[in-house]
Amino acid sequence: MNANDSIRQIKGVGEKTEKLFAKLGIATAEELLAFYPREYDIFSPIQPISSVREGDFVIIEGSLATKPRMANVRNLKIISCKFRDGTGQITVSWFNMPYLLRSLKPGTHYLLRGRAVMKNGMLQISQPKLLGREEYANLLGKLQPVYHLTAGLTNNAVTKAVAAVLKEYEFEPEFLPVEIRRKYQLELHKKAVKNLHFPESREAYAEARKRLVFEEFFLFSLALHLMREEKRKKQSGYILESGKKTEEFLESLPFQLTEGQKTAWRDVEQDLSSGYVMNRLVQGDVGSGKTVIAMLALLSAVQNGHQGAVMVPTEVLARQHYEEMARYFEPLGIRVALLAGSLTNSAKKEVGRRILEHKVDVIVGTHALIQEKITYDDLALIVTDEQHRFGVRQRETFLEKGKSPHVLVMSATPIPRTLALILYGDLDISVIDVLPANRLPIKNCAVGTNYRPQAYRFMQKQIEQGHQVYIICPMADESENMEAENVIDYTNTLKSVLPDTVRIEYLHGKMRPAAKNEIMEDFSAGKVDILVSTTVIEVGINVPNATVMMVENAERFGLAQLHQLRGRVGRGDAQSYCIFMAGNPSEETMERLRILENSNDGFYVAKQDLKLRGPGDLFGIRQSGELFFQLADIYQDAQQLQQANEAASAFTREEVSLFCKKYRGLRERLEKYTGSLSL
Ligand code: ADP
Ligand code: MG
Repeated sequence: MNANDSIRQIKGVGEKTEKLFAKLGIATAEELLAFYPREYDIFSPIQPISSVREGDFVIIEGSLATKPRMANVRNLKIISCKFRDGTGQITVSWFNMPYLLRSLKPGTHYLLRGRAVMKNGMLQISQPKLLGREEYANLLGKLQPVYHLTAGLTNNAVTKAVAAVLKEYEFEPEFLPVEIRRKYQLELHKKAVKNLHFPESREAYAEARKRLVFEEFFLFSLALHLMREEKRKKQSGYILESGKKTEEFLESLPFQLTEGQKTAWRDVEQDLSSGYVMNRLVQGDVGSGKTVIAMLALLSAVQNGHQGAVMVPTEVLARQHYEEMARYFEPLGIRVALLAGSLTNSAKKEVGRRILEHKVDVIVGTHALIQEKITYDDLALIVTDEQHRFGVRQRETFLEKGKSPHVLVMSATPIPRTLALILYGDLDISVIDVLPANRLPIKNCAVGTNYRPQAYRFMQKQIEQGHQVYIICPMADESENMEAENVIDYTNTLKSVLPDTVRIEYLHGKMRPAAKNEIMEDFSAGKVDILVSTTVIEVGINVPNATVMMVENAERFGLAQLHQLRGRVGRGDAQSYCIFMAGNPSEETMERLRILENSNDGFYVAKQDLKLRGPGDLFGIRQSGELFFQLADIYQDAQQLQQANEAASAFTREEVSLFCKKYRGLRERLEKYTGSLSL
């Protein structure tokens, strides 16, 4: 089988399965192999019942201690019984599997695998899987791949398809030069891909991951080096001086700029009027006030008769920025427009027309801004907010919309300067290192689920004082399609616990954009007291009246991500609180969460987390949502990033050119990061 062969050639993949794979962006054998497992299922040794703790995922062995009984609870048929081994007994239960009532026999030996949960104050194993002896013996200690799925496609089907391809796949020759592989002790690509899907051991997994992470960083660095060379300091046709509107805007703000904001603005102001194209990153922790800097830069573009555009990663954030900018800019006679995916086609056309005819000055939007159809009359400045959510490539596509426009990039990713220089190597950097003075430090607590009733009471008090609350639920672990239900279930439960006067709504990524916008607008306007949400609100959202953030199953998030989430509160002058609720309050989890308890500084948090885990913790959760790497994590793999960058910087353009001629697909892989390169 070859790279470009359709997955239809795999035995067992028919038209229906092909369509399901297409939903995951997989059409060819190569794409299937690059679809890495999300995590691994590890079959642990059998555990004595007496040692089972809440939250553990366990295998127990024993027999039924009581006869199975069936109960009807809210239309669910629930079968339960007691299960025992030599050390103790525990309740086990299944829902909607009524046939078990007859097939489960007292006296027979069983192996059960499932999660221990608390129900009505009692520990029980819910919905365990029955394992055969042989099945267990085969799987013990092995890592089973768990893939991202889509409704209708099972993990088993994906696993089988991957295994089938691996059997017959003709890998390309190895492309990493042998000196590099030796120096950094990297295994062959071919071996790494096999072992990443089906590792025989943790060590095999670690080696496979190491190779593929290096590969990602290496190609990224290579592409970035080439790009940087291509756009050394370029003269600019846009000399943008600030002016009267800058003054008026600053006066209309209800606050003074902080020292950090002043310095960043001075840098930007200088760049814009220097006669050279600005390429600047403004880095500042969540809540440090980066939006104002973007607005000041946009004002400069507009005052000099040009257009400016801001691209953000989510529609919710686009709307919010649009509203804020319209509020400040329209009184100054500046026309602001929103361009986002959920607008009706005719509305989109209309905005497109106004952009082309220069009937708007400032355009705020999502990826919609860089679609082919959109032509700008005179784009002098592009801003990307929350850049870590975009690739360099999207920024480059954006660039092509103007004639060498100035570029301002904003990011809240707390990374050390050495790493920033590699990841944003083509940019100058300004750092906003202080928060506005009116902020009280957020009060944090890391707790177990037994604290939940107290947390709810606390929220109610905050709501009575006129404040608002976020509650974050993670995705369910079985499949992402459960994500929605999870938030919805939680909301329903919450509604039954809290009085009717508390207004509760939910938000998740799979909702229609219009519905999302409506909820978000209601929340911004104070018409919703508690917003139960997935991490869709993670970036950028600014509702200063919200003072409580509670994260359920906090142990499932990376600390950097938790820090971003926490950044949604503490944005006004009221005291704010963040509650990290651990579904599985193990010592390890609590130690990690305590880092957040002890500090509100994103840089410190990221650093401590690394120290605690060490680079050896390969199963760790990815720290943050950088989208441009598939496996690699800039925190966890910081050392690899430096090595790969070092290795890449030794290559000349001619060498890369030759390289790309020799290896099929390499050029595409480089350009995936930066857009077209002249090779
Ligand atoms: P971020 O850096 O996370 O993008 P924002 O730009 O959204 O932060 O700003 C967060 C909040 O702080 C906003 O409500 C904004 O109006 C406010 N803010 C920005 N600068 C200042 C300042 N110098 N003093 C007080 N509040 C400020
Ligand atoms: Mg922001």
